Formats: sequence, structure tokens, C-alpha cells
Amino acid sequence: MEEILCRSALEQGEALRRGEITAPELLRAHLKRIREADPEIHAFTLVDEAGALAQAEAAQRAIERGEASSPLCGVPVAIKDNICVRGMETACGSRMLEGYRPPYDAAAVERLRAAGLVLLGHTNMDEFAMGSTTETAAGGPTRNPWDAARAPGGSSGGSAAAVSARMAPLALGSDTGGSIRQPAAFCGVTGLKPTYGAVSRWGLVAYASSLDQIGPIARTAADCAAAFDLLCARDARDATSRGGTGGTLAGLTGSAAGLRIGIPDESFAEGLDEGVRARVLGAAEIFQGLGAQVERFSLPVAPYAVPAYYILACAEASSNLSRYDGVKYGHRAEGPEDIVALMRQSRMEGFGPEARRRILLGTFVLSQGYYEAYYLKALRVRSRIRQELERALTRFDLILLPAAPSVAPRLGESLSDPLQMYLSDVYTVTANLAGLPCASFPCGEEEQTGLPVGAQLLARRDEEGLLLRAVDAFQRHTDYHLHRGGMAR
Ligand code: GLN
Repeated sequence: MEEILCRSALEQGEALRRGEITAPELLRAHLKRIREADPEIHAFTLVDEAGALAQAEAAQRAIERGEASSPLCGVPVAIKDNICVRGMETACGSRMLEGYRPPYDAAAVERLRAAGLVLLGHTNMDEFAMGSTTETAAGGPTRNPWDAARAPGGSSGGSAAAVSARMAPLALGSDTGGSIRQPAAFCGVTGLKPTYGAVSRWGLVAYASSLDQIGPIARTAADCAAAFDLLCARDARDATSRGGTGGTLAGLTGSAAGLRIGIPDESFAEGLDEGVRARVLGAAEIFQGLGAQVERFSLPVAPYAVPAYYILACAEASSNLSRYDGVKYGHRAEGPEDIVALMRQSRMEGFGPEARRRILLGTFVLSQGYYEAYYLKALRVRSRIRQELERALTRFDLILLPAAPSVAPRLGESLSDPLQMYLSDVYTVTANLAGLPCASFPCGEEEQTGLPVGAQLLARRDEEGLLLRAVDAFQRHTDYHLHRGGMAR
């Protein structure tokens, strides 16, 4: 593998500005790597060679004129298949949207284009971002670059696998209940779920709108900071977008000294694999060594996060997905005799089993008689979770917890037991319910399997700067983020 592919996105950007390599050459190196590795890994659903080449040439001209519009100008980026790219099939891992070519770019994509990044193509994902393994994708699963028999996590499994296998230095994912952080953890890379509202959701196909956020997956916290600075902006087209403070990259001082880090007892209790616990607690010790104060505390509401999340996410999904009826949007069945049959058959054919299950669950919890018992109660739990976390974050600057209870599961292991799969989201959904920024980063490998383990840090609203400063400090003193899986050596 060419050496340049193993550099971080920022290092690649710097190599371009120094004239060590041109943007079209950098792109070709990535395309070659994709051709070699992706037939087995299947991280991409589509690679736009011609479009990317034109963008790389434009970026090169800008760099030569000394007009690079960002530190990532000319650097390739992969985009999750639920984020609209003009003219590029955006199918959300679903038969329902097969062949859909958006006539516009998502706000996040507009911003990356304006910064001179080169769009490689779309990455594989669980259908409508519902899943934790990328196995619910209509086009088949992605494989984990550390072990082809394992899942890459999900739902942004394609984006995480692409970055992990050095097919892209940077990718966009979306995170509703962990879909950036958990696949990043399973693939040994770094992912950031920003504060709710920091990045515009305009052009992101909705799953659960009050939880969805777009964010970067990369190999380093510094790359995530650079991408976040580009993405974070107020956008009038998304009524919940607020933007943020920016300047994240400039604030990476390399120091974690004096940070107060809390470790919730409940997140290290029953259900957590020993090998994962050991690594995450090892990360706590490293932070201590860097001058942070680490202290345990109790977060009694933590166990209620998964039930509240699945009620709210399914409720919102059932409403968001009602637009795909074969008339207004989406796949249209052939031959039904009337409009009701047309809608029923179109939805039956277009949605896979996981999307159908969630539509049914969501419709149930929103129906008369059950609305108060489930939906409203889940909303109340959500407020409690937010309050408890915000209270904890007055005592601590950051909260440290595992990204997932285990390392990457074997392909085929999770789908047979959906409830078990839902429970594995226990450490990630809290950040979405509370709208707080949260990053996951590699903290070593599990001894038994040699697979990567991810830790998470959670911060106060709009404190991506502090959050990424801590992860960056960790990465300046360790090299876990440089470890590579077997298929990326
Ligand atoms: N695994 C979670 C779910 O299936 C999270 C998905 C996501 O963040 N998009 O809902």
C-alpha cells in the first residue's frame, strides 16, 4: 500500500500544499486502493471516479494558485449513503430509494465541496440507518477490515470500514443512536457525533429527526476537528440548526492536564465484556497520566436510555418513513389494482424487515391508548437523562465510557436476536437523547481476539473543542489510532 494512504487527512492536505503530491495523484492512489480492497470489504455502494477527478483537478488548480480554501483542500472524503449528493444515487441502503438521484447537495456536502474536498462516492449503511452492523443494507453487508468474518458495526459501517482500510482518510457518517461512534470503535478509527444542531441536517435522509446528527469519521481527533470546523454552521434550511463556535482545530493544544473526567459506575457494570472494560479503564489511566483527574460517579438513569431511545427513534421513524408510499416518494410496485394496494405493496417491497419492524413499533407507541404509556413516558425519561447528564457535567468536564459492550460481532450473529442488538447500543444512545457531543476513539485491542476497542468521551453542549482536545492529547501520547487491521496492512 502506498505510504501516503496511511497519513491522516490533515497530513495529506499538507503534502498537497507542499507540492509533494498533486490532488489527482492522491485521488488515484485512493481509487487504486478501493479497487484492490473494496471487492472484499464492500464499504462503498458507489464510487464516482469521473466526478472525483474533476474535483481533484479543480482543487489542484486552487492549491497551485495558493488559494486552497481549507486545510483539507484536495483531500478525498467518502459520504454515507443517506447524505444527498447532487446527481449521485443516494439509496440509504434501501430498495425503497434505489435509483434516487438527488437534484441537490446536502448542506454538509455543500460545505465540504466549498472547502475543496474531493467526494469519492457513497458508503454502505444499514437500511435507513437502522441497525448496528451494516447487515440490514439492501445490497449486503460490509466487512470489518480487521477481520472479514466480522461486522464493521453500524449503521455507518461503510464509512468506518473505508477509513479503517485506508480507502479514504475521512468520511461522513450520521449518528442517531451511535452510528458514527460504534462503527468507528469496531473498525479502530475515531468518530465524532457533534452537539445536536451544530451541523445542518438539510439533505440528510431523516431517521429520527430529534436525534440525527451528521459527523466525521477519521483516523485522528485532529482530522475530526478539521472536518467539524468545516461542517459546523447555522443553516436556515434546518430549523434545528444552530451552528457552533468553530475554531476546534486551532484549540488542540495537546494537553489534557487539569481536565476532570467522570466514569459512571453503571457503564462498567454487568454486561460489559472483560476485555473491553480492561482497555477502557486503561484509557482512564492514560488520561490520569496526562494530568487529568479521574473519578467514579453514579448515573442511575443510564439503564433506561435504551428503552427510551427505541421508543422515540421508532416513533419518529414511523412518521418520517410514511412519505415512502410509492406515490409521493420511493419505490412503486407494479400492477396493484387500487391506491391502497399500491401503497401497501410498494412499502412491502421497498422496506426490508428491520425498517418494517421499526415502523410497526413506532406506529404502535404513537397510537391512541399507548401514546401516554410509551411515547410520553419515554419523553419524560429523555428529560431526566438530559438533566442527570447536565448535572454530572457541572462536576466533570468529560464523561468516559465504553463505545460498546463488546468488540465487533461476527457477521450473522446479531440479526437473529434484534433485542440483543438493541441492547448493545446502551453506551451510545445517551449522547443522542441529551443532544450532547461525544467522540469515540481506539484505546487498544482486546487481548483474546486482537480486535479494536473504542472508548467514548462525552462533553457539554458545544464543547467539541474541549472534547477533541482531550482525544487529541490521548492520541499524541499513544499510537492505538495508528494500529491497522489485517486487511489494511
Ligand atoms: N443502532 C442504533 C439503531 O439502530 C443507532 C442507529 C443510528 O445511530 N443511526 O437505531
